[in-house]
Parts: sequence; structure tokens; C-alpha cells
Amino acid sequence: MKMLEPVWVGSKMPGKPWNGFSAPMCVLHTLEFSGFPQTWKWDSPSHYVYNPLTQELRQYVSTTKAAYSLRHNRLEDDHFTLQVEMFGKAGSMPFYSDQYYEGVAALVSYVNVKYGVPLHFADFSSMKAGENAAQRMTATESQMFSGFMGHGHFGKGVDAHWDPGMLDVERVKSFLVTGVEEEMPRILFEGMIDALFDADQEFQGDADFWKKLIDKPNDPQWDNDFWPAFTRMVTAG
Ligand SMILES: [Zn+2]
Repeated sequence: MKMLEPVWVGSKMPGKPWNGFSAPMCVLHTLEFSGFPQTWKWDSPSHYVYNPLTQELRQYVSTTKAAYSLRHNRLEDDHFTLQVEMFGKAGSMPFYSDQYYEGVAALVSYVNVKYGVPLHFADFSSMKAGENAAQRMTATESQMFSGFMGHGHFGKGVDAHWDPGMLDVERVKSFLVTGVEEEMPRILFEGMIDALFDADQEFQGDADFWKKLIDKPNDPQWDNDFWPAFTRMVTAG
């Protein structure tokens, strides 16, 4: 698993006003087909579209703007959340391959590192369609939620979509690694370090210093310097 590198493709849609996170959150969708939508045709773009099988990530809407994939929700919850459409079908989600789930984990890692969305998941185990399905949250509940949720968790009483279906969160987590102590694959960890330094916030100077220090996972500089800076960065504003 490596750090994803999104490709900007843009959209015919300009992006709606973005209110910022009330809590850092990401809504996952499935496209119900597999393919990258054509920018000039798609009138309800998400920020990103992702193919978990190839780990290709394309960006359609700037994350300084709100996207459109919840637009049928009259409460306009688009204004509070980051949104990603994934290749695939809601009804097939429990049956996808390990390769697909490893790809979902790579996406989750990317969103976690880049946008500070915590590795916390809504309950996907009994997703159902319908405006009043049990898993749906009210507007207030969803705006307070922090972590990864599905379109199907949105819009109690106003939205009937149930994508991305019954995402197997335990399978996603089995590919997720969140720290040195949990044996993050080296290539992923190096990619994360690069992303932290590229962000030019808490991490400045020599990324290679930390890459070399991966060989010394018990060095106190991890707990004294690295992880506190990481935490400050992902929880900032
Ligand atoms: Zn959706």
C-alpha cells in the first residue's frame, strides 16, 4: 500500500460554498458502475472519484468548495463534508476482493493524513435504502459526526440512497496501519512522512531523518516529537 497521488481533472460544476467541517468527516459513495465520469457531463460530482482496484484517485471539485453528491438532500449537507465516489455497487460491497478492500484502506489512510478525518467508522453492518432506514442520521447528528460514513447514513427522512452498502469495516481495518507500533508497511509510512513534510506545517526540515529513524521504532523521538506533531497537525482547524 502506498500513499495515493490524486490527479486533478476538474468539473463543469464550480463547487458550492464550503462551510468547513463542523467535525472532520468524509462521506463514501459508490458510483453503481466502474469508470471515471466524464467531467463535462457529470452534474453531481464528488470531490474525488476512486478506483480501489488500481488505487487511482481523480479529483473533480476543489476541497475549498463543497461537492454535489448529496444534492437531493434538501438540507444541503454537501456544505459540511468531504465526498468520495468509489467504483463499484452498493449491493456487491460485502463480496469484493481483498484487493478492493486494500484499496479502500489506502483511500481511508489518504483522507486521514491529508484532511485529518479520524479513523472512526459509522456502522455499515445493516445499511438499508429508504428515507427512514434505521442507520440514517438527522442533519444535526451527521454534522456532529467525525470519521467515515456512507451516503446511506445521511438525511433521515430526506434521502433514500444506501450507497456504499454494507462496507466491511473490519476488512478495511485489517489493511489499515496507523502507527509504527502497528507495523505500518515501510513504503506507506515513508509516503506518509513525505506528505506531512509537503504540507509544510508542523513538519519542516529533513523528512529523511524520520525515514531513517523508522529502523529505530523505540527511539524516544517518536513519542517526544513526531507523534505529538502529527496529532497537532491532524487535529488543527
Ligand atoms: Zn451516493
